[in-house]
Amino acid sequence: MLIRNARTLQRPEGCDLAIVDGVIAAVTDAGTAPIGGGDFGMGDFGVDEVDVGGKVVLPATVDAHVHLDKAYLMSHADLVGAIDPTLPAAIASVAALRPLVTAQEVADNARRALDALTRSGTTAARAQVEIDPAIGMDMVALHQQVADEARDRIDVQLVAFPQCGLGSVAMRAALSDAMRAGADVVGGCPYVDEDPAAHLDFVFSLAERHGTPVDLHLDFADEPAASLIGLVAARTRAHGMAGAVSIGHVTTLAAMSPDDQQRAFDLLACLDIALIALPVTDMFLAGHGEPGHRSVAPVDRAVRSGVRVAIGNNNIGNPFAPFGNANLLQAAWLTGIVRRLGSAADRALLLAAVTSGPASILGLTPHGTSVGERADLVVLDCDDVSTAVLQAPVALATVHGGGIVHTVSNPFRQPATT
Ligand SMILES: [Zn+2]
Repeated sequence: MLIRNARTLQRPEGCDLAIVDGVIAAVTDAGTAPIGGGDFGMGDFGVDEVDVGGKVVLPATVDAHVHLDKAYLMSHADLVGAIDPTLPAAIASVAALRPLVTAQEVADNARRALDALTRSGTTAARAQVEIDPAIGMDMVALHQQVADEARDRIDVQLVAFPQCGLGSVAMRAALSDAMRAGADVVGGCPYVDEDPAAHLDFVFSLAERHGTPVDLHLDFADEPAASLIGLVAARTRAHGMAGAVSIGHVTTLAAMSPDDQQRAFDLLACLDIALIALPVTDMFLAGHGEPGHRSVAPVDRAVRSGVRVAIGNNNIGNPFAPFGNANLLQAAWLTGIVRRLGSAADRALLLAAVTSGPASILGLTPHGTSVGERADLVVLDCDDVSTAVLQAPVALATVHGGGIVHTVSNPFRQPATT
């Protein structure tokens, strides 16, 4: 495949991108690639060719944290009354909605969420699969089915996620069963349990047994003393899992003093524990009545302290995130406003937090628009890379594994021109 006249982060003046076997094989000056692709020393491949007319082409966005199994529950939520924008209320209202939603609806909503991700330029996602014996449906199998159907468009990893805690034998058994059933990552949610340390011990031991990463929901309080980062760091070190642990939300960081925040970042950087901010949920649910906290993990300061970061979607159109729309570029845009990040360096940081950062967390590297990197790309409706995160433009096309998996189409009939 050949993409002509693309503006990339490395070549903002324009270039042609040649893709072979899902990898960027050559980058040349705009308009100089041979007609039909020619031969870049990789064999003749001149089959598909598209001229994007000077539009911006970025690495595709990657969602390091999304819930497909409770996407688009707002229509049900409206039936059960007003939305109370707090974490306990959101957990309770989704739990109350579960019996009203059939497995078929959950699967259809998950498919719709994956479609929305594809249409906004996302080619990989780590999905949190709620593991709860009370749900009464096999969520792992449901996700495996939906992910398999979409595999040509998006790579999906599954996290076994104990939203309701690990306080019972049944819950711990269900989490173990989910890993045996093929989940890729052990999830955790220690703040919902009376004994967060025991919760973390179980999660890390299970991950070590299966040789998988750990991905935690962590630190949703506005009280700095409630932070569990120290407990997570101790277990990461004890289990030899540096580089294999990520923590999502962590809004407590925003409430810490600068010194405490720095100590937390140093700990995360030292053990390569990745930080995933989830601004669309966190702005809605957290930080109420706490001027200055702004309730989104300060990813900019984290990056500058050497921490790997991502900005994820978390929830899509449900009581955790009524405004969630699966658009990672818009999540970066929101983070830029909340964190007041406007400089060129800040904008580059925000873009990395929805592209290369989450790709590294999912182990999908190298991810970019240079030779040798995976050809997972998004074509944006703008012609200046510096505006990509400022305007959060529409994704005109999504490329996954070197193939076009989404393009915008004109829904209106064209008038006759003759
Ligand atoms: Zn989540």
